[in-house]
Amino acid sequence: MNNTLGWMLLLGLCALVGGCGGEQANTKPTAESTGGPVEASPGAGNISRARLENASREPEQWLTYGGSYDETRHSALTKINRDTLSDLGIGWVYEMKKPRGVEATPIVVDGTMYVSGAWSVVYALDARSGEELWVYDPGVSGEAAAKGCCDVVNRGVAVYDGKVYVGVFDGRLEALDASTGEVVWSQVTVDQSLPYTITGAPRVFKDKVIIGNGGAELGVRGYVTAYDAATGEQAWRFYTVPNPNKEPDGAASDAIFAQLANETWGDTGAWTTEGGGGTVWDTIVYDAANDQVLLGVGNGSPWNAQIRDPDSNGDNLFLASIVAVDADTGAYRWHYQTTPRDTWDYTATQPMVLADLPLGPDGADRRVVMQAPKNGFFYILDAADGELISATPFAEMSWATGIDENGRPIEVPEARSLEEDFVMLPGPTGAHNWHPMSYNPDTGLVYIPTNVLPGLFSRPDGEEAPESNWNINFREDAGWPLAMPNEMLGELRSSAGGALLAWDPVKAEPRWAVPFPVPFNGGTLSLASGLVFQANKGGELVAYDAETGARVWSHGLVGGPGAAPVTYEVDGEQYMAVLSGWGSTIAMGFGLLFEDAVTPELGRVLAFKLGGTGTLPKPLDMGIARTPKSPLLGDEAQQLHGLSMYAANCQWCHGAFAISSGVLPDLRWSAVTATDTGWDAVVRDGALSAQGMMGVADRLSKEDTDAIRAYVVKQAWDAVARGDADAPGDDAVAAN
Ligand code: CA
Repeated sequence: MNNTLGWMLLLGLCALVGGCGGEQANTKPTAESTGGPVEASPGAGNISRARLENASREPEQWLTYGGSYDETRHSALTKINRDTLSDLGIGWVYEMKKPRGVEATPIVVDGTMYVSGAWSVVYALDARSGEELWVYDPGVSGEAAAKGCCDVVNRGVAVYDGKVYVGVFDGRLEALDASTGEVVWSQVTVDQSLPYTITGAPRVFKDKVIIGNGGAELGVRGYVTAYDAATGEQAWRFYTVPNPNKEPDGAASDAIFAQLANETWGDTGAWTTEGGGGTVWDTIVYDAANDQVLLGVGNGSPWNAQIRDPDSNGDNLFLASIVAVDADTGAYRWHYQTTPRDTWDYTATQPMVLADLPLGPDGADRRVVMQAPKNGFFYILDAADGELISATPFAEMSWATGIDENGRPIEVPEARSLEEDFVMLPGPTGAHNWHPMSYNPDTGLVYIPTNVLPGLFSRPDGEEAPESNWNINFREDAGWPLAMPNEMLGELRSSAGGALLAWDPVKAEPRWAVPFPVPFNGGTLSLASGLVFQANKGGELVAYDAETGARVWSHGLVGGPGAAPVTYEVDGEQYMAVLSGWGSTIAMGFGLLFEDAVTPELGRVLAFKLGGTGTLPKPLDMGIARTPKSPLLGDEAQQLHGLSMYAANCQWCHGAFAISSGVLPDLRWSAVTATDTGWDAVVRDGALSAQGMMGVADRLSKEDTDAIRAYVVKQAWDAVARGDADAPGDDAVAAN
């Protein structure tokens, strides 16, 4: 494997990015939580079923994750428009209690904002002032945090009938009293001995609340569970992949597995012991018109289909599919599989939008579901029966050339056979990830935050799975140079990026695109005043003309956002709110590629309003000198062993080549590297386990962890040699 491919590999596999547990990213003491009741908020959470079903008729509120059940993220409010934009300024800023990535869409009900942050902490704020009404900290343990692929993020809460629902990172689903934050009921929705996590927003429909889970990178079996919203009693569960022994689960999915899905899996292979994947970790949409719930299903576990399921060539239903189930019973209605027999982490978990488009006979309206999943095709399905209406590439792709007459992707054989290493486009982080898209019925355009980040896939050597925390079964440490070739970095930086893409779903073609040099920019919000808002990794909130893409307004934020903005109105004033901080999804390769764009920051809610005169908070002073904290350690053989151990055990959270994405501390500059005893205390004995850095003494030898330290220190000194960091003064690195 040549060096270029080695680099691409690293991008691909982890571009898929980690975040996981790990130390907190800043030094500010913020771990306190007020918890419990603080002060009642009159009228908070006064949400009926009718209000949820008619949410778009109340544009002053933001009642559901996507703004309405159709999740168009389009608001009818118009006070913020081209003529008034120049008066849009900061109304208030709220600083979250616990640091790390923020991805949530706030909910706004009758003057109260409910928003979740890192560690599944829920905040109730006065939507006019940002004044804190209550904070609920579910107390996620560091051990649970270490199970995450992509940081301890949370994408939002749901509200209904006086309660706020949150999916907790460790697998709980909890109902909180909307006025006080007190727990009304709490259900453990997963086997907590397995690497399940929850980062997605629950959805409420009728009298039920539904939640999925994540963990396919580490080895779990996906499903969703609907609960009685009032009591927390389980109503139904739908598994997304069959039981490994193909026996019934006593679940709503039993019938369709027996009829259809079981036969798409073999009887042996890693899926029978590692769950098969198919986690529904983000999008779940209630289609009220058809009284059904649409599930966006994730990738296989392990990724590599030939190891996952070696003795069938089946499609592995329902991996990478959109599945429709009956809202009352969870019974299967229909499915469409975007990537049959997924082997590339091509999830179909990306946000879905429901709309009526003129795609019926003679241009009649047809109710459709739209999705732009990782694999790069923009899909339009008939919402009633799942019939494929169109599938059109919205991004450059190397793995497929189109869709055949049966609605299946026409794969490039080399992408699956891997006779040679294969550069995948899109890479495993996808042409589009969790960052929400929006749809404006006036322009007829869908506004998608897209990404370009290639990945390299190569087969594992022999039948042996590579040694790793992660359950991917592709070779992941081949071709890694010990030092960093700057020219490679430049090449990759220039080939990666992102865009705000305006897509015409009826014509199935792009209308306009605004490119960005960096991927993983924020979700979008559409306004009836003809504007699209998006925050980007350049640390700004930008308004674009919805028809042309012309940039018409911008304002700085603090930190790199990923979440989507929302808008609401209270006391006659329209607000625009967005979370800023460091969104995840990019921890692994991102620091390596875009170190300049990496700004660890507190999670904050920034609310803009017309006439707002607030000022931006000062950026966090990390106070960490970019200098090696230890002299070089060991010889090249030890450092190389450390590289191998680091790649297998550390890179998912702390970044490839020990270069942090900013979510977790950059180990190269960490005082933990300064002494043997300090290193062992944290790395071997788990001194920071409360923050998610679990000790590895039970898994790795002292020789291994010493080698990792030698490698990390080597990377620090290599950065000095490149001019990317400063040499310390003599006293700063006294020999230990
Ligand atoms: Ca995945």
